[in-house]
Amino acid sequence: MSSLVHSEDALRITEIFYSLQGETRTMGLPTVFVRLTGCPLRCTYCDTEYAFTGGELMAIQDILARVAEYQPAYVTVTGGEPLAQPNCLPLLTQLCDAGYEVSLETGGAMSLEGVDSRVVSVLDLKTPASGEMQRNDYDNVPRLRSQDQVKFVICDREDYEWARFKLDELKLADRVADVLFSPSHADLSGRQLAEWILQDRLPVRMQLQLHKILWDDQRGH
Ligand code: SF4
Repeated sequence: MSSLVHSEDALRITEIFYSLQGETRTMGLPTVFVRLTGCPLRCTYCDTEYAFTGGELMAIQDILARVAEYQPAYVTVTGGEPLAQPNCLPLLTQLCDAGYEVSLETGGAMSLEGVDSRVVSVLDLKTPASGEMQRNDYDNVPRLRSQDQVKFVICDREDYEWARFKLDELKLADRVADVLFSPSHADLSGRQLAEWILQDRLPVRMQLQLHKILWDDQRGH
């Protein structure tokens, strides 16, 4: 890492690691994860509370150098909430410029404005049981692009009904590449969610989080 880190081109980073993508369209593909520190939300089911504080200030050029060590095809910028740090935007652009397929995992409370058009944004819409539903920024919906994905983490039947309503109201299946329904690992069985989706014939992709199945949610995977 460079000895001099100037805050104007730096980000606070919790971890950079190489693993299999655990969810989304590229699930199962080797990916480098850049986890940014900090999040303005406090979802009930959050599994990355260790990313709320701490971290290490890194210059963008040093982040790019760390990512390059793995020679990946795919890079995911995640958090915490990556968009809470303004320098996330130039980081995304420079990762795209370096030739990676770049995705951004964002919690839905921060604006997608300014995100490089080559990035695949995976936008959470927070459900009632998350405790953060009121933070959803619906101005992001018209900003979604055809390659993007919208994700609902579902804890119970009420969440499911709410997600089904939003799917229809916001015409999400027509806007984005995939609408993802994911059971909250500790709250709802995958089989139950699968049965609800099939009963209602919803045009969504159900996903289980591969990294939790393989590594039981250990940090760094
Ligand atoms: S948005 Fe993500 S990182 Fe932030 S509290 Fe919710 S689940 Fe955790």
